[in-house]
Amino acid sequence: NEQWRIDKWLSAAGVGSRKDVKKLLRKKAVRVNGETITDASEKINAREAVVTVNGEKIHYDPGPVYLMMNKREGRVSATADDRHRTVLDDIAGRNTELFPVGRLDKDTTGLLFLTTDGEWAHRLTTPRLDIEKEYEVLLDAEPHSEELQSLREGIQLKDGIETKPAKVSEGLQEKNGFRLWITVTEGKYHQVKRMFGAIGRQVNALKRVRVSNVRLDGHLEMGEYRSLTENELEAIS
Ligand code: URA
Repeated sequence: NEQWRIDKWLSAAGVGSRKDVKKLLRKKAVRVNGETITDASEKINAREAVVTVNGEKIHYDPGPVYLMMNKREGRVSATADDRHRTVLDDIAGRNTELFPVGRLDKDTTGLLFLTTDGEWAHRLTTPRLDIEKEYEVLLDAEPHSEELQSLREGIQLKDGIETKPAKVSEGLQEKNGFRLWITVTEGKYHQVKRMFGAIGRQVNALKRVRVSNVRLDGHLEMGEYRSLTENELEAIS
């Protein structure tokens, strides 16, 4: 989270203990974006706030940011776009260094990482067979079991490219279509939609639910996000 308590921020920046910092606040020595702050619980934007103590600017880099978002439909996975809103439009107090890790289609929902760490993003997005991506898929109709088997083994897409083997779950017939889960290790343009297209099915809804060992947090509504935990970061790095 970008929003930090001013006392926590100042002590993390090395100004002093929480107690020292409270004293400075009481003495009206602290200014944030030009305004004197006396309340230790006041929240500031950890990356963008300009903080001074007795008129001296305090430099503090809180380090890289790693977020998971439940991407909403209608947002493009980019930092800027001429025509459409981007996933960054759903981030409050927008951090200008933040960018999405890889891409989901505009109409795809679910797990998307955002970070300020270019190296980390690069490691996750270079083709790697050991990084699984699991998607929940709503199809127009139930595929034949031999067709699902061909997806498991690898299938030729229209452009001639062979897909790597995928895991495909059993599915469920629902009112609006046939739901199943597919796990792939590739991330080519429209990968999942084209895989089902190759067996004559249409994907009517697509949601990414897992990348590597990290699952989408079920508490996140669409457009919501949170920091990755230490465990999640370790699991995926
Ligand atoms: N496959 C797709 O077709 N679209 C996505 O957004 C992700 C995987």
